[in-house]
Amino acid sequence: MEYEAVIGLETHVQLKTHTKMWCGCANEYGSEPNTNVCPVCLGLPGALPVPNAEALRKTALTGFLLNCDVPSYAKWDRKNYFYPDNPKNYQLTQLDFPSTVSGCVEFEFGGGVGKVRVNRAHLEEDVGKSFHFSDFSGVDFNRAGVPLLEIVTEPDISSPDMAYEYLNALKSILEYGGVSDCDMEKGQVRCDVNISVRQKGDTELGEKVEIKNMNSFSGVRRAARYEISRQMEVIESGGELVQETRRWDDDAGITDGMRTKEDAHDYRYFPDPDLMPHRPSEEWLAAVREEVVELPLARKRRFMTSFQLPESGAEVLVADARLGDYFEEVSGEGKNPKLVANWVINNLRAKLVETGISIADLKFSSTAIPELVGLVEEGQISSSIAQEIFADMFETGKDPKVIVEEKGLSQMSDSGDLEAFCRDAIEANPGPVDDFRKGKETALNFLKGQVMKASRGKANPQVVGDLLVKILNG
Ligand code: ADP
Ligand code: MG
Ligand code: ZN
Repeated sequence: MEYEAVIGLETHVQLKTHTKMWCGCANEYGSEPNTNVCPVCLGLPGALPVPNAEALRKTALTGFLLNCDVPSYAKWDRKNYFYPDNPKNYQLTQLDFPSTVSGCVEFEFGGGVGKVRVNRAHLEEDVGKSFHFSDFSGVDFNRAGVPLLEIVTEPDISSPDMAYEYLNALKSILEYGGVSDCDMEKGQVRCDVNISVRQKGDTELGEKVEIKNMNSFSGVRRAARYEISRQMEVIESGGELVQETRRWDDDAGITDGMRTKEDAHDYRYFPDPDLMPHRPSEEWLAAVREEVVELPLARKRRFMTSFQLPESGAEVLVADARLGDYFEEVSGEGKNPKLVANWVINNLRAKLVETGISIADLKFSSTAIPELVGLVEEGQISSSIAQEIFADMFETGKDPKVIVEEKGLSQMSDSGDLEAFCRDAIEANPGPVDDFRKGKETALNFLKGQVMKASRGKANPQVVGDLLVKILNG
């Protein structure tokens, strides 16, 4: 039998706000446990919530970025459950009137365009984090009440690879829009993966399994691969699939059953009596719409056409929004943006990765890379010397021209200076000289290499080549 997989994703993303959703506590990662807390986010009796305007704005903005409608009425509901990390015994969320609905995400996939419809992106709040020590457990409530967006897709995803690409696209859209940093290490993106399989061609969906709380995209892909083949095996062996929640065990590479699925009524949802519904005005929505930015796919196409960048290069610049912004900032400074792009993509990026320094902390000015490119283009320095200068300017922040001067790295283009190097190379290498005279052109490259070496990379290779030929033929 032939099967097909059906996947729907529910992705929780921490919004980038200064304060929490319902109180003035800092939305800050890495503080001492239980220092960003107050009666509201600790759920103390009598404390009243005040909605965070920044979070409402960023939610609507996300809606626009995901091509959603932003309805003129949204409300808050309590999802009731007990858990030690949930001090209020309910989580505020949006059940039937979410802040944004009916969108879609488009991304490059399998040589074409992948399209996943978004059912909704609704606001909810995060809970605390439990820690288990050898003989006791603790809860840190710094994260309780931090605004989360839950982005729910329709079951439009047909493979683990497509899920993976959708998540990457979503992440870069949210980063671009400035609505979330999507820092996986800090747990800012968590994903529930819903999976079913069915016989190819069937119109009805199979029983779905939900794998909860995945915190890496590659984990999602692996878990989906495993789960799809598990479900196919169950069907093949005559078993029956049940709707259930499973857990991904990353070390073992398997999912195992946690519980059969809870229903909505188990949570006794009801509208929050302390909060007014949100009714965004036309003016408010128009102002938010102003903040919509160019999306990664559009940016990539623009980079390819405006700067003649190859697709792979444009992809690198788009994948890291800060690197792309940096490139846009500095490319205006030079004559050859394509060469500037090469430096940003190859050299700068490698250095940033190697040193862990962020672009904001770069010591050299925004004119430095274009200046370096200019020096190479004008033949003042060789490209290998340029590497050396780059390493120096990365460390010290000095301008390339200053480094050239200080270290005496200017390219030697004067034939008078280079002639001695050439004559030495010819004298020391009678074999290759003989080869060259017999018509073996490649022997010239060898001699050229010797001169470059002797000049410690400073000789202008073009001039050296011409000189060697002149001397050898003379
Ligand atoms: P629940 O009420 O169980 O949370 P929803 O209908 O709200 O279920 O869907 C949750 C997620 O599961 C959505 O992303 C949706 O696209 C996906 N989904 C729903 N049914 C299936 C199915 N049979 N197979 C795979 N994914 C599904
Ligand atoms: Mg669910
Ligand atoms: Zn608080």
